[in-house]
Amino acid sequence: MKKESSGAATWENAGVAPPSDIERSSATDTPAASRPKAYELVLDDIEDELRTGALKVGDQLPGERALAEAHGISRASVRDAIRILDVMGVVRTSTGSGPGAGAVVISEPAAGIATALRMHVASARLSVQEIVQTRILLETWAARVADLDADPERSAVVLREARGLLADMDDPQLERESFHELDARFHVLLSGLAGNAVIEAMMESLRLAISDYVRGAVRSDEAWEPVATVLRDQHHGIFDAVVSGQGEVAAELLREHIEWFHGWSTGS
Ligand SMILES: [Zn+2]
Repeated sequence: MKKESSGAATWENAGVAPPSDIERSSATDTPAASRPKAYELVLDDIEDELRTGALKVGDQLPGERALAEAHGISRASVRDAIRILDVMGVVRTSTGSGPGAGAVVISEPAAGIATALRMHVASARLSVQEIVQTRILLETWAARVADLDADPERSAVVLREARGLLADMDDPQLERESFHELDARFHVLLSGLAGNAVIEAMMESLRLAISDYVRGAVRSDEAWEPVATVLRDQHHGIFDAVVSGQGEVAAELLREHIEWFHGWSTGS
């Protein structure tokens, strides 16, 4: 994380107190915006250690007091840094004082990206149009490069699960609410066949945003029924293309599916 990251500016723009006082540089004349926050010293250090391999997944971070002394900052600031890393999915913290207590390095990129994206979607900083465009980009790319033979075991698991979701969505008794959730999961699942962890994390982070905008677009149960029929057919078409290894066809059907619903919901 850079010293003048937009993340740091956001705390101030949002009108809330930054997570910690500025302890190190308060005696200088440096403008507030360019001074590193105390917790950023810890974040920068941990980032360096992860990059060089000094810290690895499964390692335990030094204790609060040790980190505070090493950086010449307060323990409160160290706690701020650990909390941020926790939200980012970089460490997991546990309470208690046993040998497993403290912050342990984990690797859950989807968790961190998902949290950030969800917040920005919730604050309406990301529009439905942007989510739709991003979906098309990610999902059609993923469909084109998906190689079922790259990891046959994993592919079999994914396809079995996707088939199960299709069967659940075919059930006319299924609640609309549940349909939207399964629909989004179906798309996240298929994009995973590309074997790209970043794409997977991004799709996972968009999952709630996807089911939310689809849910919000359908106003009544009467309007929903004919739409659901079309969506079911489209899903089966996409799935069949994926199973038979026709990536290009699957990509085109995905695009049509996403654009059709968006067009329907916006009345264009
Ligand atoms: Zn769908």
